[in-house]
Order: sequence, then structure tokens, then C-alpha cells
Amino acid sequence: MTDNRVQELAQTRDQALGCQRCGLWRTRQHVVFGEGNPYATLLLIGEGPGATEDARGRPFVGQAGKLLDRALADAGLPRGDLWLTNLVRSRPCTLQNGGLRNRAPLAGEVAACRVWRDAEFDLVAPRVILCLGSVPASYLIHKDFRLNAERSQVFELEGTKCLATYHPSYPLRLAGEDYGRVFGALVADLKLAGALASE
Ligand code: SF4
Repeated sequence: MTDNRVQELAQTRDQALGCQRCGLWRTRQHVVFGEGNPYATLLLIGEGPGATEDARGRPFVGQAGKLLDRALADAGLPRGDLWLTNLVRSRPCTLQNGGLRNRAPLAGEVAACRVWRDAEFDLVAPRVILCLGSVPASYLIHKDFRLNAERSQVFELEGTKCLATYHPSYPLRLAGEDYGRVFGALVADLKLAGALASE
């Protein structure tokens, strides 16, 4: 596939790799631009890269990414068919005890990074956007979004269906029945989003 969409995404990514629009550039190793199928009908968006993603320059490749891969496999959705991205493309973190600790992105950082998010959304033009966790849902769906109450509900975002599910880092913090329940809900939401994207 070598049409304009592919070229424009590559050009936009190249521009983003040098971005200093917010202060997160100071501690990052890599800008983590979205990746996947430029023709994806389903786009997944998290809040920001973690340490592994920052080190490798790719989204969802750490422990949470591995769990997401297992959930995608259970949902019958090949990762390569999707577009995966984040609200911010540099790792949101704070210096603490001589190391870097992950944190949620600040509103100003999300606003600064919106230029790249909008470019990805416009170029990929998915039918469905699935927010991974309440942080992206609070920016894309509505600011008071409550995951437990509104998970799986389908909203509209400028003509695109948009819904939210758990971030794949959440089940990693659970065990036993709780793990099974949340992982199962994640798989069910991925299936729902996949079905909506295929309509
Ligand atoms: S988070 Fe986004 S806006 Fe901030 S420096 Fe990184 S790419 Fe630029």
C-alpha cells in the first residue's frame, strides 16, 4: 500500500519524532507515534507510553501490551489490522528518588500532543475508536467519564463511534476471579468494538 495515506502518516511520524511541544521531550528516549494498519477501521488509544514503549519507540510493547495481545487474540482481532496509539507520544513521568515514575499525562501535555492525535485520527479515519482506560475516555468522550458505569456504551465523536474499556495494565494488578472478570470484560469490549468496526 503506497497511497497518500501511508506517505502522509510516515511524513507526520517523521515530524513528530522531533517534537518539543511540551516538556515531556526532556525525559523521553523516543517519541512513540501510533502504529498499525493505516486502513484500520478500529483504533485503540491509551494514555501514554510507559518505560518499555519509551525505550523501544513503539506503543503497547511492555507487560500491558503483552496482555493486550492476549486479549486481542481471544477477541479474534489481529493486532496488525488495528491502529494503536496514545493521548501523548512521549512518556509521562516524574523524577522520583533518582528514577522516573510513570504518571497520567497532564491536560496541557494532552493538549500539546493533540496535533499528532488529530493527524493520526484524520489520516487513519477509523470507524470506531476504543479508549483503553478512563483517561483517554475523559478527553475523547466526556470529562466526567466513569469507566465502571459507562464502559461498553457507544458514544459518537464527530461521526465516529467511540467507546471505552479497561486499560490492559489494570488486570495485571489483579489476581484470581478479579483478574478473570476484568480480562473477560476487556475481551468482550474488544469483540464489541471489532463488530462495530466491521458493520
Ligand atoms: S508528548 Fe506529544 S506534544 Fe509532548 S513532546 Fe511528546 S510528541 Fe510532543
